[in-house]
Amino acid sequence: MASAPAAKRGSKTPASTAIPHGSQPFLQSVNSYFDKAAHLTDLPQGLLDQIRVCNSVYYMQFPVRIKGEIQVIEAWRAEHSHHKLPCKGGIRYAETVDQDEVQALAALMTYKCAVVDVPFGGGKGGIRINPRDYTVEELERITRRYTVELIKKNFIGPSVDVPAPDFGTGPREMAWIADTYQAFAQGEINALACVTGKPVGQGGVRGRTAATGRGLYFAVREAVNDAKLMKKLKLTTGFADKTVIVQGFGNVGYHAAKFLMEAGATVIGIIEWDGAVVNPKGIDVEALQAHRVERGSITGFAGAKTVKDGLSVLEYECDILVPAALENQIFKENAPRIKAKIVAEGANGPVTAVAEDILNKKGIVVMPDMFVNAGGVVVSYFEWLKNISHVRFGRMDKRFEEGSNTRLVNALENLTGKSLTLSERNLIARGADEEDLVNSGLEDTMISSYHSIMEVFWGNPKVKDLRTAAFVNSINKIAGSYMSLGIFP
Ligand code: NAD
Repeated sequence: MASAPAAKRGSKTPASTAIPHGSQPFLQSVNSYFDKAAHLTDLPQGLLDQIRVCNSVYYMQFPVRIKGEIQVIEAWRAEHSHHKLPCKGGIRYAETVDQDEVQALAALMTYKCAVVDVPFGGGKGGIRINPRDYTVEELERITRRYTVELIKKNFIGPSVDVPAPDFGTGPREMAWIADTYQAFAQGEINALACVTGKPVGQGGVRGRTAATGRGLYFAVREAVNDAKLMKKLKLTTGFADKTVIVQGFGNVGYHAAKFLMEAGATVIGIIEWDGAVVNPKGIDVEALQAHRVERGSITGFAGAKTVKDGLSVLEYECDILVPAALENQIFKENAPRIKAKIVAEGANGPVTAVAEDILNKKGIVVMPDMFVNAGGVVVSYFEWLKNISHVRFGRMDKRFEEGSNTRLVNALENLTGKSLTLSERNLIARGADEEDLVNSGLEDTMISSYHSIMEVFWGNPKVKDLRTAAFVNSINKIAGSYMSLGIFP
């Protein structure tokens, strides 16, 4: 069993084994963003301290049989804030996972949920493994054992803490987690709501896989259509003349690149861990994806030039840079060389606090992770709602809506004496299905959150950047929850 005792809720855990990437530990970076915004609120210090600290961390070490040998696996789950329950946040599989990272990501989840009005506290989990080193069966054993550890300490459950996919995990891992949880929760009617990001056949919701990239697209679309912001950046509105570089061609990066390209932007560079591909005339994102599926790498793609030093492509000239791989990718050393006009954070924490000051001084607008990549948690919230309500979105009203729309079209045709074609009729009369409703709810959330962040940004001269505006917005909402609980006067 574990060589170090597993920590109880709220107790101290072993010291962080963080190896800071870039120039600043991730948690320090998140906390310095928080502090910068906290100064601009008039909230009491005790309340700000409570909002900032991590409520519970569970550090665990457990044995798993791998290729005939016992391997001790290290893992964490952090619940940053219990001001609303359940806690919500992904589970990451990576060799860089440590307590600093998990706590930083959990804190970001708290602020993110508040910004997009998702009624959850922030959480995050991680297992320190490189998933590429394991077979599917081994990954399943590790995932199921991790879930059992979470169950033992009440760190998972539909009303307690609800994980989701993150870097290195996806619907497959979420299905294993749900199945393990259900096996231990006999008779618990809402058991499937213990995790989100599941395959649709196992309680998932349509639209979840693409949600983070789609949400990023909605966020950037609002920004490029914001005449006041574009004027500040000396850019025209719309996507037509915008160039884009994306780092990370995984779930978030692929979908973001796809939706931005479909909206008319030119994707001129994609960066992966083993190199980048660039083409000033534009990269066909779907063709690149097909190449990657076939060859296992984006490098060598015929529709673009391969650049071995992928990180250097972050510094190429472009309008919109989307870091969608990992944290700390734009740091003190490379920040002065970034030439993008807008940095839209697809990943969590890709820009360090030190780097952000440098980008701000250069006039670059950083659209913060806590808003830009919130699409995943928004749609996870929809999945959780679907699981606890036990009904597919659209099931009750799709046909009714179609009937009403058809009657309206018939009445209009009778009145005007004109007939619609079958495809026009289908387009107007069609009732919304689950995916339509999910995407529409996501779009509405991203639009209204953008405008509430911009209201703080334009409305307070002391707020100099969008991240601070988002943090002020988020901190005030969390403070409101604590006050309504009567915990703080
Ligand atoms: P993923 O595992 O699907 O994709 C990550 C991609 O980045 C992979 O293709 C990987 O090969 C690539 N990569 C790894 N190291 C790299 C490097 N050094 N340079 C360039 N590329 C590299 O993960 P994901 O779900 O897309 O998550 C990416 C980021 O987005 C993470 O920071 C995650 O926390 C954040 N995020 C994800 C979601 C979600 O719904 N999946 C939601 C919010 C935030």
